[in-house]
Amino acid sequence: MKLAILSRSLRAYSTQRLRTAALERGHQVKVLDTLRFGIDLAGPEPDLHFRGRPLSAYDAVLPRIGASVTYFGTAVVRQFEQMDVYTPNTANGIMNSRDKLRASQILLRHEIAMPATVFVRNRDEIPHAIEMVGGAPVVIKLLEGTQGIGVILAPEMKVAEAIVETLHGTNQHVLIQSFVKESKGTDIRALVVGDRVVAAMRRRASGDEFRSNVHRGGTVEAVELEPEFADVAVRSAHIMGLRVAGVDMLESEDGPLVMEVNSSPGLQGIETATKLDVAGAIVDYIADQSGFPDIDVRQR
Ligand code: ADP
Repeated sequence: MKLAILSRSLRAYSTQRLRTAALERGHQVKVLDTLRFGIDLAGPEPDLHFRGRPLSAYDAVLPRIGASVTYFGTAVVRQFEQMDVYTPNTANGIMNSRDKLRASQILLRHEIAMPATVFVRNRDEIPHAIEMVGGAPVVIKLLEGTQGIGVILAPEMKVAEAIVETLHGTNQHVLIQSFVKESKGTDIRALVVGDRVVAAMRRRASGDEFRSNVHRGGTVEAVELEPEFADVAVRSAHIMGLRVAGVDMLESEDGPLVMEVNSSPGLQGIETATKLDVAGAIVDYIADQSGFPDIDVRQR
C-alpha cells in the first residue's frame, strides 16, 4: 500500500509511530504537510498538487488534521475522497466531531447517552438552561476548546450565569452541561479502529482538578473496557463517520456518557499506558480496507 499521512507536525510522536508502523509492514508511506497541498479544480477531474507538483497516486490517506487547520484540512481530505483514495476518516466525519455541539446533536439523534447539555444564546435563556441540566454545579464548555481549555466548573447559579454571559459578550459559543460528579475527575478514552476498541485507558485528574486531560496534569492507566463502553465507543465513532477515533466517556451511575469523539487521537498516552501497538492496528486496518490485507502477513 502507498499511504499518505496528512500532518502538520512531522516529528510528533503519533506521526512518527504511524510512519514507522507502516514501514515495518512493508508499505510505502509519506508524511505530507496538510498546508502544502493545492486543491486543483481547474482540470476535467478532481486533482491534488503537493508543493507545486501533481501528487503521485496513493492507495490510502490517514488525515491527522489539527483544530487550527480544520477548514483547509478537511477540504484536502474531501478532495482525496473525490479522487477515490481510501480514508478511514471522511471530511464530514472530521467536521462533525470537531464541533462539540454538532457532534452532540448527531449522537443524541442516534441514542448515544451524553451528559445533559443545553445550548442558548440570549442572556434571558441562561437561568432556564442551567435549571434544565439540573442546576449548579454546572459545567460550561467553549464549543471549540481542546485539551480542557475552556471547560469550566461553575459552583453556583449566579457564577454560572456570569460566566456564560461573559463568554457570550466576547462572542463565544458555549455549552451548558450537567456536572457528572460520580466520575470524580476521571474519564475513559477508548481508541476505536474499524469495528473495535483496540486500546483503552482511564485518565485521572490531579489534585482537586476535575478535568482529567493529560495537558492539565492528569495521569493515565490501562483499563479493560466493559462491553457496554466498547460498544458505545464504536457506535459513536461510526455515527460521526470515523473509523479511527478517540472516544471520551464519563463513567456515570447509568453507564457510559460520551463527551467527545476525537478524529486525530494522540497515540503517546494510550500506547504508553497500555503498551499496545495502536499505530500498527491503525495501519493494518487501513491496509485491509484499501485492498492490501496480505502485505502485513508476507512481511512477518
Ligand atoms: P476537551 O475537549 O477540552 O478535552 P472535554 O469536554 O473532554 O474537553 O472536558 C475536559 C475534561 O473535563 C474531561 O476529560 C473530564 O475529565 C472533565 N469533564 C468534562 N465534562 C464533564 C462533565 N459534564 N462532568 C464531569 N466532568 C467533566
